[in-house]
Amino acid sequence: MTNRNRWVLASNNQHKLEEIQVQFPTNIELLTLNDVGFSEDIIEDAATFHGNALIKAKRINDFTGFPSLADDSGLCVSALNNDPGVHSARYANQTGPVDHNLNNQKLLSELEGFSDRTAYFITVLCLVGFSKEPLYFEGRVWGEIGSKLKGNGGFGYDPLFIPSGYNQSFAELGSEVKNSLSHRSNALKELKKYFKWV
Ligand code: IMP
Repeated sequence: MTNRNRWVLASNNQHKLEEIQVQFPTNIELLTLNDVGFSEDIIEDAATFHGNALIKAKRINDFTGFPSLADDSGLCVSALNNDPGVHSARYANQTGPVDHNLNNQKLLSELEGFSDRTAYFITVLCLVGFSKEPLYFEGRVWGEIGSKLKGNGGFGYDPLFIPSGYNQSFAELGSEVKNSLSHRSNALKELKKYFKWV
């Protein structure tokens, strides 16, 4: 197996790994950060999703020499000038631990009085070390922010996000429906198209 067939996913999130691994052809081995012995915290301080994905992919490529794939995701709300955007994880608590419930409460209060509740989730994937320049693949899913939290599935803003064409939130729709529509799966579709895996 050559280095070009052994990639590293710049994440230890098992859920992401499984979602991504099943979409890959069997000749590509996808390693995790645990597999390659990387345990540092990477500071993601870029102002864009592309910038943060690049920081992660580049650091892991420098560490391993293998093509490295990183993703950065978030929620962009039209009425809030695309906030929380790159700050989605720590929207309610910039310096402390990630608190999804507090984030959802903050989002609801920021949107009070707005009739336009349009929003999209975005994922940017960045692959460093496969070709000379980094490769980027972007996926979005559009929807609306509900007026209250609904459902127990998923994570993050899922209880508030109602994808276009549906009446239920991502947290109510369940992982199968969510994974077929999601920003992450749309970004992966772009990657698969690029490599002609579909
Ligand atoms: P990450 O870059 O995938 O870690 O996502 C950053 C933050 O965006 C998460 O902590 C969530 O707040 C939000 N987010 C990203 N993807 C999703 C999703 O699929 N559902 C709900 N929230 C998400």
